[in-house]
Amino acid sequence: MKIKTLLLAFLLLLGSTFSYAQKISVKRVDPPSWWTGMHDHNLQLLVYGPHISETSPVINYPGVQLEQIIHVKSPDYLFLDLVISAATQPGTFTIHFKKGKRDVVKYTYTLNKREKSPKLHQGFDNSDVIYLLMPDRFANGDTTNDNMPGMLEKANVKNPNGRHGGDIKGIEEHLGYLKNLGVTTIWSTPLMEDNLPTYSYHGYAQTDYYKVDPRFGTNRDYRNLVQEAHKKGLKVIQDMVFNHCGTNYFWKGDLPTPDWYNQWPKFTRSNYHGGVVSDPHASQYDYHHMVAGWFDTSMADLNQDNPLVANYLIQNSIWWIEYAGLDGIRQDTYPYSYKDFMAKWMQRILQEYPHFNVVGETWFSYPATVAYWLENNHNADGYHSHLTNVFDFPLMIAINKAFNEKEGWDTGLARLYEVISQDFVYSDPMKLGIFAGNHDSNRIFSTLHENLKKWKMVMAFLMTTRGIPEIYYGTEILMTGEKFKGDGNLRKDFPGGWPGDKLNAFTPQGRTAEQNDAFNFLRTLLNWRKSNKAVQYGKLTHYIVENGVYVYFRAYKDKKVMVLLNNNDKSVTVNLTRFAEDLKGFTKGKTVMTGKVLSQLNSLILAAKSPMIVELEK
Ligand code: CA
Repeated sequence: MKIKTLLLAFLLLLGSTFSYAQKISVKRVDPPSWWTGMHDHNLQLLVYGPHISETSPVINYPGVQLEQIIHVKSPDYLFLDLVISAATQPGTFTIHFKKGKRDVVKYTYTLNKREKSPKLHQGFDNSDVIYLLMPDRFANGDTTNDNMPGMLEKANVKNPNGRHGGDIKGIEEHLGYLKNLGVTTIWSTPLMEDNLPTYSYHGYAQTDYYKVDPRFGTNRDYRNLVQEAHKKGLKVIQDMVFNHCGTNYFWKGDLPTPDWYNQWPKFTRSNYHGGVVSDPHASQYDYHHMVAGWFDTSMADLNQDNPLVANYLIQNSIWWIEYAGLDGIRQDTYPYSYKDFMAKWMQRILQEYPHFNVVGETWFSYPATVAYWLENNHNADGYHSHLTNVFDFPLMIAINKAFNEKEGWDTGLARLYEVISQDFVYSDPMKLGIFAGNHDSNRIFSTLHENLKKWKMVMAFLMTTRGIPEIYYGTEILMTGEKFKGDGNLRKDFPGGWPGDKLNAFTPQGRTAEQNDAFNFLRTLLNWRKSNKAVQYGKLTHYIVENGVYVYFRAYKDKKVMVLLNNNDKSVTVNLTRFAEDLKGFTKGKTVMTGKVLSQLNSLILAAKSPMIVELEK
């Protein structure tokens, strides 16, 4: 009896092993490929497949060493630590997932040759002007991809919060338009798969960090877009989101480790008070809720304190920079991720791409909190972010108030002066991304009560003060949108981007006289800016606002530009003697927008609510 029972148990075990063996497979390996000749020789593969942890992986490829096999709580994952020596040749190798001597699964992995060109991965700087667009709302270049198999949300242009069908092809078709406008860099909001049933168009709940959403195109299309942009002298910034991923990520219901996400007994939202991360008086309670709370119900809070999560994210960004030839990254919700991880991530990127730039979404009202996140800042707690660029939200807030207000001691243009006067808190204020609005805020033309004169002042200011200007798509054609009407209202379709659109605002004929006035103003300004190092890199000297007029200078070598903003409802005569220290050595000038020659620099007449930009001459 005993022998029979044992035999039965043995047979059962064999059977179950056999049935398991039947089920073992590899569904996915991330990163999906890699390169030889990387600065960092380490590569950690996430292998996902049912019961894959029951196998023993073996790799036989010259130069590739399988250093460590990491098992986690879920049996469906293995993490493989590889070392790829400097001499390793590009090619493919097989990962043998073995049981005993038998291959249970084989997986082919590719090591590509790195494309090395001094033009790649050069980052962005003060010579650039960034154009922020939402791919779903910019232009629909391919209507056949509006709905795709397996993608939960279907296109519905009538729903302001639904998908409208814009895509990569739509962006590519308008590269010439952007080049003509005079911007130099495209920042598209996320393009990776966001397979959630609603609100998927914005892409901030990504469900595959390695795959472009099929409704936008393919990975290859994206790489091609970057290449086509480069041919036209345009750069591309990819929007990344490391704080959270969409709850429909492939690991849904089968997390590698229980702490892959920050877990709570019940759904707990972040308190959205990013300032607690740098606040020396913050409570642990607030800090924990800030960084470990979830951004939204559909956005799972990734735990970057888990080194496997950290590696997954770091390698993902390296993969995209290398694969697509990116020029920069915009990182979403910067203070919401663990800050030590973010610093490590930045160091790793800069180690591989020393000239690369990353701009962080540092949404704070005060310069000091923004400054905390900028590289080389002297923070009392010793934190060094290594983050090359931050967004100047305090200046954005000031811009949105200044031009609508009556001039006073601390109102109107004084707000711009006051914010900029606090630049001492920044390790380098030139590294600030400056803007009047983005996809989350009122459109500037609406804020300005659709006043074109004010709009021109804002554009003139943005393109001539310190920092790297960013404009939101449609700003150039005076698109309107107000936050209280919902985010969809800020993200309307660009007219002419959809087949059948009555008007095509990508062309002069499709724009109203006022839109053409705005477009031409901005085009002139941007194209002039491209060739003027003083407004790009020059030292800023500004003067306190007097009588509603803000005056500043940008100086670079022997070039100097004078900018005057008149926020009064009437024209004013400005006596220039107050600016003698900056005008010294110059006798005349030429206005940039009208080409008018100024034969003397004693006084100037400024039109009501108008900017004047003057190139000074000896
Ligand atoms: Ca489409």
